[in-house]
Amino acid sequence: MQSAVSPSAPPFPQTHDGTRPFVALARELGTLREHPLAARGPAGEALSSHSLWRGPTDAARVLVLLSGTHGVEGLAGSAIQQDLLQRLRSDLLPLPPDTALLLVHLLNPWGCAWLRRCDAEGIDLNRNFVDFNAPLPVNPGYAKLRETLLSEDARARATALAAYADTHGRTALEIAISGGQYQDPAGPFYGGAAPAHGRQLVEALIRDHALAGRQLAVIDLHTGLGPYGYGEIICDHELDSDGTRTAQRWYGDAVTLPLAGTSSSVPKTGLLDYAWHAIMDHRSCFVTLEFGTFSTDTLFDVLLQDHRLHQHGVPDWQAAATQTVKHAMRHHFCPASPQWQELVLFRARQVIRLALAGLQHDGAST
Ligand SMILES: [Zn+2]
Repeated sequence: MQSAVSPSAPPFPQTHDGTRPFVALARELGTLREHPLAARGPAGEALSSHSLWRGPTDAARVLVLLSGTHGVEGLAGSAIQQDLLQRLRSDLLPLPPDTALLLVHLLNPWGCAWLRRCDAEGIDLNRNFVDFNAPLPVNPGYAKLRETLLSEDARARATALAAYADTHGRTALEIAISGGQYQDPAGPFYGGAAPAHGRQLVEALIRDHALAGRQLAVIDLHTGLGPYGYGEIICDHELDSDGTRTAQRWYGDAVTLPLAGTSSSVPKTGLLDYAWHAIMDHRSCFVTLEFGTFSTDTLFDVLLQDHRLHQHGVPDWQAAATQTVKHAMRHHFCPASPQWQELVLFRARQVIRLALAGLQHDGAST
């Protein structure tokens, strides 16, 4: 049976190497910049983020599409970005007038190469956008659960997490684990002690392209949370804010709000969103486009296996135990299922189209 999205759509990359066609394609379509990283991949290979600008330098409106904020999730993010480039190349998606496109490919290429969510410093880039000159946020629930989370005893872990959820509620459990923590570099959802490479890159791109003051639609591509194959549009702007109203105007009632408890995602500290919120006007918004795969319990389980594997340093990449964990990471964050991949491309195309239409509509009405 043919895919409804595109009969010739290539399968999603299953390794960092598989994302490389983005670079050649992007070079054809605009101004491509390479942002190299000091850290290397498992085979000693060099790693880089890339940014592509297409459209007028001084465009009033910019669609920004980010991938690989959480390294391994960049496999699917790269596929979406490559799909967009192919549609631009074949004129299936003309950019509207006075509108530019900024694609940032693999904000955390190290995590993509090592099939991890965090970067080489163990930092979850999406918890790193805090003020490091102020006291760091405290997550008391994480401190209580830390030992359990990294324990090898799966049964004891399940019992302890269930007990925590019974006492404090399921949302409190998820905030304790995934809300963000700033004490434990080996643990999951660690926000870091200083701005990460990916944060510095985002801040440089905002400056270099003079994005403050333009009308912006920012979409950050993620996977691994929520219903299988569904692309949830998560909005972390304040509830009563122009950003939330803009997201709802552009994307409709499907927009979910962690602060209102309507999202698969619980409220978090240090989100990448905040760097963009700070420069946005009232006709701009930032959304996370999160593609679900398997359950949240599976997400925690797979991720904790990966943190246990890396807790004493870089593991032997070829070892069977390493490959078992990495296979589970890849399967959770980028299933090799054609059905899942088709759902992802279908929804991504829809959300990109809505973002461009929203930019045009709001841009024309003011
Ligand atoms: Zn993510």
